[in-house]
Amino acid sequence: MSSLATPTDVLAARMARARSLMADRGVDVLLLSVGPDLPYLTAYEAMPLERLTMLVLPRDGEATLVVPRLEAPRVTEHPGVFTLSAWGETDDPVARVAHLVGSAEVAAVGDHTWARFLVDLLAVRPLQVRRGVEVMGPLRIAKDAAEVALLRRAGAAADRVAAQLQAGAIPLVGRTEAQVSADLSQRLRDEGHERVNFAIVAAGDHAASPHHTPGSRVIRPGDVVLTDFGGRREGYCSDITRCVSLGPPSAEVAEAYAVLQEAQAAAVRAATVGTPCEEVDATARRIIAAAGHGEHFIHRTGHGIGMEEHEDPYLVEGNPLPLAPGHAFSIEPGIYVAGRFGLRLEDIVVATEAGPEPMNHAVHDLVVVDA
Ligand code: ZN
Ligand code: ZN
Ligand code: ZN
Repeated sequence: MSSLATPTDVLAARMARARSLMADRGVDVLLLSVGPDLPYLTAYEAMPLERLTMLVLPRDGEATLVVPRLEAPRVTEHPGVFTLSAWGETDDPVARVAHLVGSAEVAAVGDHTWARFLVDLLAVRPLQVRRGVEVMGPLRIAKDAAEVALLRRAGAAADRVAAQLQAGAIPLVGRTEAQVSADLSQRLRDEGHERVNFAIVAAGDHAASPHHTPGSRVIRPGDVVLTDFGGRREGYCSDITRCVSLGPPSAEVAEAYAVLQEAQAAAVRAATVGTPCEEVDATARRIIAAAGHGEHFIHRTGHGIGMEEHEDPYLVEGNPLPLAPGHAFSIEPGIYVAGRFGLRLEDIVVATEAGPEPMNHAVHDLVVVDA
């Protein structure tokens, strides 16, 4: 991806909100380089290069996107949102940014900006510096309608791969976890993902390690196979976990899965606007603990998702943040019994005034497959 398809009016609305947050927080200029904040405001993703890319957004002036000349063809221009300023190989891009900063005294600098550029800038143009997240955090945590639409599409694409798995259309028995992982990755690309972030495949007792690295273990009849896969599609991330059973599951696994499924569904229902993040986590945890599996649920219930696979808000004990419209996050409780089995069930959900809206709809049961 170089440019996202975000419409000009959406970018303009985001920039206006950024400017009003800058005013609230006493920030004169926002400086964004590599990382997801830049494409959020400009639809352009910078190459992580030694050549400087930087958006200079003054609170009360025109925004300028400073890019290396050779990258300029990758930028889609959005007249009225920002002006492009391309620098050649013998130009000094830091001097150009310093000039655009003008009389600003307080700068918020994107969290992913390389320190070398900030150090060089401060040497020629002393500024009071704050973290860019002060301005960009409150914007990016609440997804606008354009972003929710993209999350929905990424979720639907991941669902189609999950449906193939649950239909027995993805061969499992006799293949290694790594082979199935590669297959899932290819199917995500076939469903329009430009990048695969991960495709965890964990068979049998391997699933007791939540982030197991798929390896040479050959999948056998009778295995329960945990798959957790996702990537980026049109700039926004998918992330889904489904388990399938090759033959009827043992009574122990079936009982644990029923608890997990109930806990996951209850946490989704609890994810309403105004509910603290930690309360969604507690909802899933109470059900799992009541069934005697408390010590087997060894991670938080979920993470925010958007342009990044993991971002705010985190559904974890100790996070009192109330959910707000547009918050997007995973709900993924798990039950892991070392040496025996591991189960997890994950959907992406968006909090809306009308209630929690799941981005994933693939069957939630432990589907028995013949594959
Ligand atoms: Zn995880
Ligand atoms: Zn996942
Ligand atoms: Zn996740």
